[in-house]
Amino acid sequence: MRSLGPSPLRGAARTCLALDEYMKEQKQQYEAWEGNDGCILSTPDKIEKMKKEGLIEKNAKLVHIIEAATYEEAMAIFNLRTGVEPYRPMGKPKLCSKGCGSFFYPEGSGECPYCGKIC
Ligand SMILES: [Zn+2]
Repeated sequence: MRSLGPSPLRGAARTCLALDEYMKEQKQQYEAWEGNDGCILSTPDKIEKMKKEGLIEKNAKLVHIIEAATYEEAMAIFNLRTGVEPYRPMGKPKLCSKGCGSFFYPEGSGECPYCGKIC
């Protein structure tokens, strides 16, 4: 097994593990639809809205359904499934301000995997 190196959150992570009820991921479903112009990944409600607005072609096909806690996690899984380079989230990760011990991407989705939308 390959070592992941020292965790920047050793103390915080240990504290978090005791908070079983608090540490439930806020998983949601994401869908990847592929059309002639490429692929779009989003939540089912946003996909439906984009279809109604004509932003997704009528002949587009559902190619992946992904359960993830944040958009960044969904994109990471999507890239694994499609064999492209690892996904690089927008901006720098920031420690969640609610004390759960996880990082999130303020310049990306602004979603913490445990606390939901932060910014
Ligand atoms: Zn959090």
